[in-house]
Amino acid sequence: MTSEPIIHRYPEQREGAFVNAYLIETARSVVAIDSLLTVSESRAMRAGLEQLGKPLRAVLLTQSHPDHYGGLTELVASDDVPIVAPQGVMDTIARDDPAKEQILRPMFGDEWATTRTFPNTPIADGETMTVDGAVFTVIDLGPSESPHDSPWTLGPDERIVFLGDQIYDHKHCYLADGFYAEWLANIEKLRDMFPDDAVFYIGHGGPVGRDMWDWQREYIERLLDAVSSADWSASEQAKATVVTRMKEYEPCEELQFLMELSIEPVAAKLGLLATAT
Ligand SMILES: [Zn+2]
Repeated sequence: MTSEPIIHRYPEQREGAFVNAYLIETARSVVAIDSLLTVSESRAMRAGLEQLGKPLRAVLLTQSHPDHYGGLTELVASDDVPIVAPQGVMDTIARDDPAKEQILRPMFGDEWATTRTFPNTPIADGETMTVDGAVFTVIDLGPSESPHDSPWTLGPDERIVFLGDQIYDHKHCYLADGFYAEWLANIEKLRDMFPDDAVFYIGHGGPVGRDMWDWQREYIERLLDAVSSADWSASEQAKATVVTRMKEYEPCEELQFLMELSIEPVAAKLGLLATAT
């Protein structure tokens, strides 16, 4: 009988953390779920791994956005380990990374890694990775919060779920990729998939329970409604109106810029922006 895996969350300083990732410690090994965005936070996560004194055996990715893979080079260091994700996540990262470099370099400077490491080991929906008796199973969701998402469950009873960004814990959300219809459908698919007492380890805040599905659905629906009902003949005014309405729903300021970055792309996807500028 092996002991239960221990879940370590990074960064350890959670206050104001942009994103979090996890080290899963078993009796003799460690598995990482995602890396962090910045070089220094990913280096601190690596230091946490080395303090555990057990080898890193695999990294599992929950989705294709750079806040989840950007720190892989620091996290993995010289370890030759599988970095596992569905093919769609691997293809999305390879396709979008040059564009992310253009966006993130001015925002983060040297904290956005100059040498980035990509996933190297594809896995199919429902397949498992077993490390030191801990069984991780991937759910290949396809487009959702990011262009390709892949939550993982731990253990045969699926009570521990690494959900990625399917739920944000009372923080503003990123919808700029425009897959909100798929995201809403995935919420309905996932909410009935796990036991009532399942614990969701997520990318932004948490852990949370199943009650947060309703918060997340309503956040997306409100954003769509706020964008749809704004007057786009004056776009700055329209954006300000959407921000106000979303702050009424979620007063916190954390990740508000992600929501602000999402308003125009959602309006464009809804066909509300004039094509001539
Ligand atoms: Zn994220």
